Amino acid sequence: MFTLKLDEIPEEGLDLKWQEERASLATYLKDLSNIDFDFEIPLQSEVKIKRADRSILITGKVQTTLRLQCVRCLKEFPYPLSTAFELTLHPLKEAPSEEETELGSEEMESSFLEGGEIHLSEIACEQIFLEIPYQPLCREECRGLCSVCGKDQNLSSCECVKEEWTSGFSALKKLKLD
Ligand SMILES: [Zn+2]
Ligand SMILES: [Zn+2]
Repeated sequence: MFTLKLDEIPEEGLDLKWQEERASLATYLKDLSNIDFDFEIPLQSEVKIKRADRSILITGKVQTTLRLQCVRCLKEFPYPLSTAFELTLHPLKEAPSEEETELGSEEMESSFLEGGEIHLSEIACEQIFLEIPYQPLCREECRGLCSVCGKDQNLSSCECVKEEWTSGFSALKKLKLD
C-alpha cells in the first residue's frame, strides 16, 4: 500500500500521482468492504498535499472503472467512476508529552494518518467506496429477471404471470430455491 511519511512533505507542499493495480488492491479490499465489486482497471489517484499548522490538507481526485453487479438482472457491468475530494487530517496535538502520546494516540490520529505516515492508498480507496451506488443498476431501465422462471427480461420476455414487479433480489432467492 502506498504511504507517505510526514517529514517527506516539503514546506511548499507536494503533488503526487500514482496508480495501483487490481492485484495489489484485492487483498486490501477483502478486509475492508462487504460490497461485492472488483476493479476493472487500475486505480489512478492524484493529490496535492499541504501542511497547515499541524494539520494536513489533501485535495485530489481518483479515477477508475469498477465491475459491479446489477441488483436487478445480476449481470456484472463496468462502472466508470471519477471523483474529486478534500480532506483535512488532524494528526497531532499541541506538543504532547511522551506519555500522552502513548495513551491518547488512538484518539488523536486520523486512521489515515498513523505512525507519522499518511495512508494514501486507503484514502484513495475510501473515496471509491463512497461513490459506489447502494443498489447498482446496469442501466436505469434494466428490466431484471423474471421472478417466476428467472429469465433475463432484457433479452426476452417470458409467458409467466407475475403478481407484481419484483426486484432482482427476490428473483435471486427464487433461483436458488429451484
Ligand atoms: Zn441489470
Ligand atoms: Zn418468466
